[in-house]
Amino acid sequence: MKAAYYGGSRQIHIRECVPVAPAAGQVRVRVSHCGICGTDLHVYLGDLDHRIRLPEVIGHEGSGTIAELGPGVEGFSVGDPVVVMPIISCGQCPACKAGNYHVCHQLKVIGIEAPGAMQSSWTVPANLLFPLPRTMDLQQAALIEPVAVACHDIRMGELQKGEYALVLGGGPIGALIAIVAKHKGARVLVTEINPFRIAMLRRLGLEVVDPRQPGPNGTTWVDRVMEETGGAGADVVFEVTGVAAGAEMMTKAAKVRGRIVIVGVFAKPAPVDIYKIFARELRLFGARVYQREDFAEAIEIVASGAIPGHELITNVMPLDQLRHGLDQMATGGDVMKILIDCQS
Ligand SMILES: [Zn+2]
Ligand SMILES: [Zn+2]
Repeated sequence: MKAAYYGGSRQIHIRECVPVAPAAGQVRVRVSHCGICGTDLHVYLGDLDHRIRLPEVIGHEGSGTIAELGPGVEGFSVGDPVVVMPIISCGQCPACKAGNYHVCHQLKVIGIEAPGAMQSSWTVPANLLFPLPRTMDLQQAALIEPVAVACHDIRMGELQKGEYALVLGGGPIGALIAIVAKHKGARVLVTEINPFRIAMLRRLGLEVVDPRQPGPNGTTWVDRVMEETGGAGADVVFEVTGVAAGAEMMTKAAKVRGRIVIVGVFAKPAPVDIYKIFARELRLFGARVYQREDFAEAIEIVASGAIPGHELITNVMPLDQLRHGLDQMATGGDVMKILIDCQS
C-alpha cells in the first residue's frame, strides 16, 4: 500500500508501507477518494507544525469501503461503503460531558493529530464510521465531510426556510453552505473575489457579487443586500473568508438581531465593528467542525443529488500528485475541490 506523509513545510513523501491491522474496536478502510481541504493546505505550508508529529499521513475527507474488521466490531461487514467522521474526543472533559464532543478540550483531528486518509489503506476507530447507501458514488461521498461542515454552520446559524443568507467567501466551504442553504429554501447571496469561482458559482445558479466591483449606478454589495431584503439586512451572515476583510464586512449587512456565524479560521486577530453588534443586537456564533447529526444529514443531502459534485470537483489526481494539488491550491489556481484517488 501507499501513503502520503507530510514531512515538514512543503514536503510530501509518498511511501510504500504495510497496512495497519485493526485492533479491537477498529476497522481498516480501503480508501477510495480523499478531498484536499484548506486545513490540509495549512498543514502543508507548515502552519500547524505545533500540532502534528512528523512524519504524518494527512487528509480527513476520505470515502471508501471496509477491508477488515478488528475484534469486537459489530454492525459492519467487509465491503460496506463508508465515510469517517475524522474527530476523536476524550469523552471525559467538561465539553465532552456537556455533549460538545466536537469541541473537546483534547480534540484530535484525524489527518493532523492521528493518521489521515491520504493512503490506500486507513485504520480508524469503528465508532467514527457512517455507512453509505450502496448506490452512492465514492467520489461524491468524499464531499460528505465538507457538506457536514456546511450543515453544522447552518444549524448553528439557525437559518430557516425563506430567510436571507449572506455567505462571505465562495471557496469550497462557502459554496457548500450556499448550496445547502438554498436546498433548504433560504435566499442566498455569496460574495467572492476569485473570477474562476465567481463563474462556477453562477453556473450553479447562485447569486454572487464581487464586493470590490460597484454594481449598477455605483451601488455596493451592502446596497444590494438591503434592496433584496426590503431594507432589513441579512437574517444570517456566514463569515467563511477567515481574513480581516471578511471580519470587517460581516457586521455591515446583518439585520437587527441577525446572526453571524464564524466559519473561517482566523490565523490572527482581526478588527470587528463591536458597536454594530451592540447597536443592532447582533448575535455572533462560532461553528467548528460538526456533530454526528450533521454527518448524518450530509449523507442524506449528498444521496439526494443536491450537491453538484460534477462542477465542484474540478480535479481528480492520483496519490503521487498530492503535492501538485496542494501547490495549485496554494497559488490560487483555477480549482475548487481537488480529490485524490487513493488507489491509483
Ligand atoms: Zn476539511
Ligand atoms: Zn473531551
